[in-house]
Amino acid sequence: MKTIGMIGGMSWESTSTYYREINEGIKNTLGGLHSAKVALYSVDFDEIEKLQHADDWEATATILTRAGQAVEAGGADFLLICSNTMHKVAPQIEAGINIPLIHIADATAEQLRRDGVEKVGLLGTRFTMEQDFYRDRLTQRFGIEVLTPEQLDREFIHQVIYDELCLGKIVDKSRSQYLSIMAKLAEHGAQAIILGCTEIALLVQQRHSAITLYDTTRLHCAAAVRTATA
Ligand code: GLU
Repeated sequence: MKTIGMIGGMSWESTSTYYREINEGIKNTLGGLHSAKVALYSVDFDEIEKLQHADDWEATATILTRAGQAVEAGGADFLLICSNTMHKVAPQIEAGINIPLIHIADATAEQLRRDGVEKVGLLGTRFTMEQDFYRDRLTQRFGIEVLTPEQLDREFIHQVIYDELCLGKIVDKSRSQYLSIMAKLAEHGAQAIILGCTEIALLVQQRHSAITLYDTTRLHCAAAVRTATA
């Protein structure tokens, strides 16, 4: 079995899901007392979040590249960045390490393609919804058309991620609002919704929604388990 490298803590609320999902996946695949070999470097999210909102992505790249190098030195065979947003600096991190990265958008897009989804709604941080690094990857590499919510809805989704979900607060009113934003995307032709932030599934699960949801955290973990056990 290969050792799974993870840069986590962004936020730890979702890294905790990663740890459980990966171990459950290994147990389901290998049985018995098998558990995942993991090298995890967990950062202080306060530091990262301040740099994101100050638009200092190069400083985040420096911190996460060092974290990736520590994970590699700790014996990891490949790396996961446990945040959609921080894939913005994936190219810099990849350039600083010698192990492969499993990109969260690729893990998600591969499943969308297997399911024949061509037009999808994307929820995530403002950075993920508005900038090119994530949407363009889905469109250019996988031919998937991406719809994002209108501006006020994007603001709302972003604030809930930072002010509630990353702090472990699950608020029913926010869930209702998320569901109505998803319904609008479906009205505009989205065949499914990407939960493109690793904390969103703490708030909204498939049982809440008639629209098919693609949870990036679970898809990323499943890809890691497949790679670790291949
Ligand atoms: N975990 C989130 C994501 O998947 C947001 C927190 C962050 O900015 O890293 O994008």
